[in-house]
Amino acid sequence: MSENMKEYIDEAEKVLLHTYNRFQIVLDKGNGVTLYDLDGKEYLDFVSGIGVFALGYGNKEYNDALKNQIDKIIHTSNYYYNVPAIEAAKKLKKVSKMDRIFFTNSGAEAVEGALKTARKYAFLRDGHTDHEIIAMEHSFHGRTFGALSVTGNAHYREAFEPLIGSIRFAQYNDLESVKRLVNKKTCAIIMETVQGEGGIYPATEEFIKGVRKICDENDIILILDEIQCGMGRTGYMYAWQKFGVKPDVMTSAKALGCGVPVGAFLMTEKVAESSLVAGDHGTTYGGNPLACAAIDKVLDLFESNHIIDNVKEVSSYLEEKLDELKDRYDFIVDRRGSGLLQGLEFDHPVSDTINKALENGLILINAGTNVIRFIPPLVITKEDVDRMIAILEPCLT
Ligand SMILES: *Cc1c(COP(=O)(O)O)cnc(C)c1O
Repeated sequence: MSENMKEYIDEAEKVLLHTYNRFQIVLDKGNGVTLYDLDGKEYLDFVSGIGVFALGYGNKEYNDALKNQIDKIIHTSNYYYNVPAIEAAKKLKKVSKMDRIFFTNSGAEAVEGALKTARKYAFLRDGHTDHEIIAMEHSFHGRTFGALSVTGNAHYREAFEPLIGSIRFAQYNDLESVKRLVNKKTCAIIMETVQGEGGIYPATEEFIKGVRKICDENDIILILDEIQCGMGRTGYMYAWQKFGVKPDVMTSAKALGCGVPVGAFLMTEKVAESSLVAGDHGTTYGGNPLACAAIDKVLDLFESNHIIDNVKEVSSYLEEKLDELKDRYDFIVDRRGSGLLQGLEFDHPVSDTINKALENGLILINAGTNVIRFIPPLVITKEDVDRMIAILEPCLT
């Protein structure tokens, strides 16, 4: 490592709060699916900023759209209408098949909005606030108090208790465990359509349809968190669209802005008509012209670049190659996932392998201690998959 890069890392550790054990590189720029550190060393990117940079780095149309918007106006306020927000919402409504959208600045904030929507809906119906929410073990919904309250990871929650109350945890993909927790007070069930941080577990069709049925029978709001698995990653614009069921409320973020910090919570007309009203919720930055110019252009580019077709094609190849690794190495115990969100589970921690891959020019990340997560830009090709395997395989120990 150069003196220059080392100095930056030392300085970072003096000024930034140490809430991440960062990899020892300073990333400087990117092009396509390649990232460069400050020393000019190249990396093949199979993380995409954790599912954010779906279009690859340095997309000219995307960059130009942002530059044009910067020169026009970056921010107004939600007390006024702005054209990028209207255009982005129209397009997002079409691809999401939801009816009403609230733009946020992040995923966690979208989850907060979704939870508030569910509680308000139940409050208007019942006239009281004594409601419960069912969430899933091993889930991840973000780090703010509300989102943390429904995150099924005791280690993340422990020091920050008491969180919001009346949250009950069921086992993902275990319908009986959900049924056991449902009662008259239940106002919402929140879950990821594919669990990301928790180890890459896709919902089974039986589970998601069963949960939908429970919600229908009991007037419970189904909130699907599509922040990581949405935006084309599974080969569907939103992962639930594969199952022929629909959430009442959905969250989106990460690849929605492809790098500009945005998120959204979306709902059906039915929920919108009897939940949040003027004064109930707000945000200063959410849905501002710059953020929405990004969303608007991302949705254009998804269509014109046939992103979903590419995901479908390349993901089956990626699955095949990962399955081959699993067959060759005894310590690889499972390969699972959906589309370009895949996990390879070891019978031991994956950190050594990930560090070695980084040294050899491949960026990977874990999902839990024993799982390598593959969450590349959605524009990768089969050749990129071959390059990835060629770097990864010698790092397997
Ligand atoms: C990343 C993530 C979040 C939190 O999003 P932030 O933008 O980091 O707040 C919530 N839910 C899921 C499923 C995520 O992957």
